[in-house]
Amino acid sequence: MELRLFTDDDIVTHPDSGLAQVAPATAWTDEITDLGRAMFSSLAGLNAVGLAANQIGRDARLFVADLGEGEPWFFLNAQLVARSENTEEGVEGCLSIPGHLFLVNSPEVVTATYVNEHGEECTTTFTGYDARVVRHEVDHLNGRVILDHGVLAESGDVLVEDTDE
Ligand SMILES: [Zn+2]
Repeated sequence: MELRLFTDDDIVTHPDSGLAQVAPATAWTDEITDLGRAMFSSLAGLNAVGLAANQIGRDARLFVADLGEGEPWFFLNAQLVARSENTEEGVEGCLSIPGHLFLVNSPEVVTATYVNEHGEECTTTFTGYDARVVRHEVDHLNGRVILDHGVLAESGDVLVEDTDE
């Protein structure tokens, strides 16, 4: 089983068509949990908080996120089932859009359903920064990146694009 770490060279960048596709429902298997472990272990080296499978060219409905100790990190078949009407403006970057930061309105609270690393169906509510991370990653699984003004309106509007490098 491949357990190598992913690096910047593995990251699919906008406008790759894979980033615009809705990731298909994916079976929970040893293979997918191993992939998730490799993705999670890669976050520090990528200087990232979250990573979706389609960002490394994998056609799976999976993302991982480092939300801190004791928080969920493996999100298979993730969906947002609730989002607060209250939104918060915050800065987001994306590995797939390197060199840019965006100011994005994102729900203060979201509830996600997903299958965890043990194959258990979970429903978890996230607030603040964690809610932003989970929304960003579920957007990836739904074929949306923060650059897509039109499609993004449902979950967050790009208010400012900082293109200075
Ligand atoms: Zn991203």
